[in-house]
Amino acid sequence: MNSAVDTQALLVENQQLHAELQDLLEQARINQQIMQRHQAFDLRLIGSSEFRDLIETVSLLMPNTFSLEIVTLTLVDFAFDVRRILHDLQIGLDEYPNLLFLPENGPALPLEKPTLGPYQHELHQSLFPFYQPASVAILPLTRHQTLIGYLALGSAHEGRFTGNLATDFIERLASVVAICLENVINNERLKHIGLTDPLTGVNNRRYIEQRMQEEIGRAQRDRSALSCLFIDIDHFKRVNDKFGHQSGDDVLREVATRIKKELRLSDSLGRYGGEEFIVLLTQATLSDAERIAERIRASVAQQAIEIVGADEALQVTVSIGAAAQTPPDRSMPADQARQKLIASADEALYRAKEGGRNRVMLAG
Ligand code: GH3
Ligand code: MG
Ligand code: MG
Repeated sequence: MNSAVDTQALLVENQQLHAELQDLLEQARINQQIMQRHQAFDLRLIGSSEFRDLIETVSLLMPNTFSLEIVTLTLVDFAFDVRRILHDLQIGLDEYPNLLFLPENGPALPLEKPTLGPYQHELHQSLFPFYQPASVAILPLTRHQTLIGYLALGSAHEGRFTGNLATDFIERLASVVAICLENVINNERLKHIGLTDPLTGVNNRRYIEQRMQEEIGRAQRDRSALSCLFIDIDHFKRVNDKFGHQSGDDVLREVATRIKKELRLSDSLGRYGGEEFIVLLTQATLSDAERIAERIRASVAQQAIEIVGADEALQVTVSIGAAAQTPPDRSMPADQARQKLIASADEALYRAKEGGRNRVMLAG
């Protein structure tokens, strides 16, 4: 063999090897980047302690990390438990279009294993209401053998999710998301319990004071009206004395239920003290407040309350003081404005009691 040819062949081979090595290095670099992105994603996911975090991680960071067009999270919440908690904690669902709730009579989705394949309108429409991908991975999320939701991954590429793709990675992802989801829901539940009155199930004093502060701030910014009702059950001590504490508790629960029935979703009700309730009415002037207060008064007085073990239903009445801040005083700090609003409503309540009870009085 000629040594010049030999050298030439070696050179070519060397160049090829070099190119292959460069490719491998490039691949390793890309893999490492992917791994780092996955790790960063895992950390964010596992670190989510609030609902907001988790939804944002899933709907924004996840598509980015895995090069997907869309990721939605659908919760099984037939009893509206989660939605009620989110509402009370003021987490607006319209902020998160990728957070969905499973319809009760929807099409049959997978229950255990993920399914991968082309997007099928009848089957997948409810999981992708705003964007229709070409191929999808539907991951059931289960905890303790119970289906708690679906994570739905959507790609614009038909070949991205196909039936013969290995699902180990995706299954692991589903179990991590399921654990994180259960964790954030539990956290929000705990937060909610801390702001709920255990006897009546309505908000407690801590919540209503906090909420008032926020709503006052908002009313000051928007120059919108805000009203407050101070409601006190009349001669409640007599109920306890005559029928026992247990019956008193039943009356408290029923009065709370009747008040709540007269309110809009944006209003809030809190048990402020023993037999005292506060209602916060957003976008409501003093005359709106008077109308709602009168409705509440009538609803309590009109129908006697059935008491377990008592021969006859109990005639119960409430007195109500109403106050409004219209227009809101922007120069007053929110906590001072809150105290002033409550004090005005309390003063009106006092006059309602003085005036003979079972009546509504207005502040000012
Ligand atoms: P008024 O018409 O002037 O408001 O008279 P009242 O009897 O309602 O007012 P008062 O403030 O004298 O009595 C309130 C009573 O509420 C006294 C207390 O024992 C009772 N109470 C407070 N918290 C609870 C509770 O959680 N359960 C029951 N059953 N009673 C409670
Ligand atoms: Mg009282
Ligand atoms: Mg009372």
